Amino acid sequence: MSFNDIYGHEKQVNVLRKTLSQKRIGHAYLFSGIPSIGKKALAVEFARAYNCEKADAVQGSCGTCFSCRKIQKNRHPDFFVVKPEGQFIRIDAIREIQNQMTFKPLEALCRIFIVDDADKMNEEAANALLKTLEEPSFANLIILITSRPYALASTVLSRCLHMRFNPLRQDIVAKLLTEKMGMEQQKALLLAGLSGGSIGRALDLDDEEIISFRQETFDLLAATRKSELFSLIKFTSFLHQDKKKISLALDIIISYFRDALVYKETKKSGTLINQDKLSFIDSVAQRLSGEQILYNIDLVERAERYIKRNSNKLLTLETMAFKLSY
Ligand SMILES: [Zn+2]
Repeated sequence: MSFNDIYGHEKQVNVLRKTLSQKRIGHAYLFSGIPSIGKKALAVEFARAYNCEKADAVQGSCGTCFSCRKIQKNRHPDFFVVKPEGQFIRIDAIREIQNQMTFKPLEALCRIFIVDDADKMNEEAANALLKTLEEPSFANLIILITSRPYALASTVLSRCLHMRFNPLRQDIVAKLLTEKMGMEQQKALLLAGLSGGSIGRALDLDDEEIISFRQETFDLLAATRKSELFSLIKFTSFLHQDKKKISLALDIIISYFRDALVYKETKKSGTLINQDKLSFIDSVAQRLSGEQILYNIDLVERAERYIKRNSNKLLTLETMAFKLSY
């Protein structure tokens, strides 16, 4: 592992490289962003790079020295990962951090604590952590990780250097799925396109039921015609039948229209999410204008937002289905 093995987040990686090379490391960081995008992987790499015996700020950790290997195996006496036990991170876990901080690191230049899912600290734990953050110590670094920064007390937030992580780009998710998980290219592109930039979501989508749901969504979308009222009703009631899958269905629909737009402009199929549906995508690209496709994408995205805000689902889906150009 080194900084070069981190997928995406170039900006954040460069900030950390710079901090290391200038030796201006803060005493508390907060990494926030949606789940499963590599926040923890970067926190661990930062811990390794900081303590690497062959420290190189650009490269990051060497991966082979004593310190790197110990952190890699989570066996370093000065490297700690705190996680929720059950629902919460409790005060005992924070007391352990405070306890460690009373003496010098055993081997490392800097002792590092990663607090994963930091928003799960209960009130007692958060108050205890706040005390720790108020008394910075140069031989100790705390990295909080969360997908819900708004759930952390503002007093905790204000004492951390807050680094916000964006969802991963679609091509990066696909690259990670093929390189790290050995997934076949076509499938990786498809899952990446529906993942919203999260590896965890991409992997959740990789199951038979979801794959057949995608096929069904596609079949209905392809069979829907504005002039045929029955097809519109059928399409809407399909979208509405499983409330847990509405957002997935809408993502699938958006992915087709995005593909149609890309294909219309480039005539290349290599970057399409739904490469296995090329003839349908081609026919949409020929039938609809660029403006119509963009309008469709906007309609579906708007419906998704309304539904997330608890608007009447059926009514929202009906309005969307009746306005779309097919
Ligand atoms: Zn090393």
